[in-house]
Amino acid sequence: MMAQYLALKEEAEDCLLFYRMGDFFELFFDDAKIASACLDIALTARGSHGDDKVPMCGVPAHSATGYLARLIKAGHRVAIADQVETPEEAKKRGGSKALVARAIVRVVTAGTLTEEALLDSRSANWCAAIGEAGGETAIACADISTGRFEVIECGADRAGAELARFAPAETIASEASELADLATALRPKGDFDSARGEARLKSLFGVATLDGFGSLSRAGLAAAGGLVAYLDHTAKGALPFLRPPHVTRTDAAMAIDAATRESLELTVSQSGARKGSLLDAVDRTVTGAGARLLGADISAPLMDRASIEARLDLVQRFHDDAGLRDMVRSALRAMPDIGRALGRLAAGRGSPRDLGQLRDGLDGAWRLGEKLSELADRPPLLDALAPQLRGHGELIDLLQRALVPDPPVDADKGGYIAEGYDAALDDLRDTGAGGRRAIAKLEAEYRASTGIANLKIKHNGVLGYHIEVPAKSADRLMAPDSGFTHRQTLAGVVRFNAPELHDLAIKVTQAGAHALTAEAAHLEDLTGTALDRREPIAATADALARLDVSAALAERAAEGGWARPALVDHACFEIEGGRHPVVEAALARAGERFVANDCTLSEDSRLWLVTGPNMGGKSTFLRQNALIAVLAQAGGYVPATRATLGLVDRLFSRVGASDNLARGRSTFMVEMVETAAILAQATPRSFVILDEVGRGTSTYDGLAIAWAVVEAIHEENRCRCLFATHYHELTRLAERCDALTLHHVRAREWKGDLVLLHEVSEGPADRSYGLAVARLAGLPPITIKRARAVLDKLEAGREKTGGLAAGLDDLPLFAAMAEEEPEATDPLRTELEALDIDALSPREALEILYKLKGLA
Ligand code: ADP
Repeated sequence: MMAQYLALKEEAEDCLLFYRMGDFFELFFDDAKIASACLDIALTARGSHGDDKVPMCGVPAHSATGYLARLIKAGHRVAIADQVETPEEAKKRGGSKALVARAIVRVVTAGTLTEEALLDSRSANWCAAIGEAGGETAIACADISTGRFEVIECGADRAGAELARFAPAETIASEASELADLATALRPKGDFDSARGEARLKSLFGVATLDGFGSLSRAGLAAAGGLVAYLDHTAKGALPFLRPPHVTRTDAAMAIDAATRESLELTVSQSGARKGSLLDAVDRTVTGAGARLLGADISAPLMDRASIEARLDLVQRFHDDAGLRDMVRSALRAMPDIGRALGRLAAGRGSPRDLGQLRDGLDGAWRLGEKLSELADRPPLLDALAPQLRGHGELIDLLQRALVPDPPVDADKGGYIAEGYDAALDDLRDTGAGGRRAIAKLEAEYRASTGIANLKIKHNGVLGYHIEVPAKSADRLMAPDSGFTHRQTLAGVVRFNAPELHDLAIKVTQAGAHALTAEAAHLEDLTGTALDRREPIAATADALARLDVSAALAERAAEGGWARPALVDHACFEIEGGRHPVVEAALARAGERFVANDCTLSEDSRLWLVTGPNMGGKSTFLRQNALIAVLAQAGGYVPATRATLGLVDRLFSRVGASDNLARGRSTFMVEMVETAAILAQATPRSFVILDEVGRGTSTYDGLAIAWAVVEAIHEENRCRCLFATHYHELTRLAERCDALTLHHVRAREWKGDLVLLHEVSEGPADRSYGLAVARLAGLPPITIKRARAVLDKLEAGREKTGGLAAGLDDLPLFAAMAEEEPEATDPLRTELEALDIDALSPREALEILYKLKGLA
């Protein structure tokens, strides 16, 4: 047995091995130590291996799912080695001592789950792969719980951002990948070969060409092929359901890098939970599939105006018609998650209940589709969705006839095929039931004939049907001619068999076994019939999810008095009465009111410098505007009374270092790396919020950096930008930068107390109110008094010397400096750019290579 175990373990070195023994999965050696600690179960020992006892622990097979969930959550991978023959088969094969053959039937990893119990119904579960070929990079992502399959063509520099959008449970890459540090597991290089990937996809989808899926680059093929190979590996050949890949290019969505997502808390808050995120604050969906789609929408706001307007039209229809919205939402609420039921059926882990869910979900979809088709003034998106809801009539009808109303999860005990569906099955059940009735009658007859009033006919797994009498009455049945055969004597009772009972029992048992076989065959057929339609069923599931998201966004808008954003071509950003949905909700819980603020960025005022005291509401103001851009381009209403904006191609949010101190990185370094990324990437169509950048270092350094960053954004990037700072000196930039305007959050001192108004007004803040904030925070009066004395001295000094910013007015213009230092030219680059490769002979190419090497 140990030899078999070790051979299996070798196959799955990076996994914990669950080794099936009877009713248990056992773990040995280090696996046992890890699992017992993680699961808090007893670590025992068994036999010996060499000189040592073998550490061991085990979990019951019937409740393995819960244990698996905990191991996966803790970051482990689990290989399941099951028995692949029965003990009888093993004996037949190799004699009475033969070991039952076992094989790894599945590798359970975080990215390849389908079990309802292991998944969060409200979020997608992505498994991602990074593909690289010919200098290009692509990401492939699959959610095998629903069959969604996405391929995104992106450059290597955007791979991280694209992965951040999906937040995959697992990311794989080739062991030779340049981007290996983005991956959670590395796989053989050959799996990521683009030619092999192409072949793999063609065979998976049974097509001769992949053109129908849109244009896949070599990198796309490498990523998709690597992913399929991995899924195949974890499912041990039983490849789960994948829909044809949906291919997009990076620029189809607003670019939002990982740091920005984190800082804006789009789908998870900084603590890592969904609560406190934008998604959580807007989510009014009523189905798991709707919640998953809303998460995807918010993670990838669109760049195509027509698609955004189409989404908005549908949201508006639901917004303006509360009756319709309520009808759709209550219909959806009652529907099971057909996408995931389909995923389980396709992965071969389906149950009768999953078929029941398909039946009810498709039936509900059909009914909803009928109602929606009757509506007048249907927006185009609704017109496109409604037909997808219907069209499964035959399947619904079949499942309704075939299944009992509430089919069980467990198929083993049968009882899920409805009466009247199969006459032969009904006969078998009748025979069984008739036999059981006859047995009950027999009990009465035995009581009468033996005169033992408490004689009972019972059934158990060991003896099957048998007669049980109290020990004191047993003598009568023990007599050789009594017609009863003794089977078992226990304390107090004695058990017998009898020929009539024996015959009836065989009839009942056989009928039961045949009925079970017949039901199992039906289950397989029905599953097959449903899976033949998996693509249209998945499309129905998608349509339902889109309806849920649209109605939910409308519900949220109606609840909060939100407005439909107007999208325009030029890069403006005009928000009236804007609010921050998360902060507003938190304040409302505390019984406080949120102060709405306007924001008007335009060609001649595209950079707002926002000053004002700490706690005044600067960060909140910055973020709420970024969130409004995200919501608008995701196709939702926005928390404002009016909003007009030009599409944002890239969104950036950076927060000065000291807010991130808790995360223990070299925070100033991170701040600068991230700021550098913005300066390198922001375009005139981008939107940037910078909160206290430069704060992570000394005052002079910080001010100098903040100053230069503002100038660079203003002169070079020319994007829309909100810049919050406590460096009052920066307000001097208004004189140099014509599209920069000054704003501040208002505060007032009233009877010695600081009142923060959270109102954004024009002009610079009059002073910093630092001491007033310190008092508000509860610094002792004596400390405040001392600080006041220090401040007075400092301010007196500043008046004499001109202060921190003395001399800044003499600084040459940014543009002048940029001209002064033309970018150093790189001879290697110049030489390369001038090359016409197609015009070269191999020999010339080699010579040039030597020359280039010399330049490097
Ligand atoms: P700052 O960035 O200026 O230090 P924050 O934006 O972090 O300030 O805001 C501090 C607190 O002030 C928030 O947690 C919130 O409770 C409150 N606040 C901010 N903006 C508003 C607003 N517009 N209306 C009401 N309260 C607000």
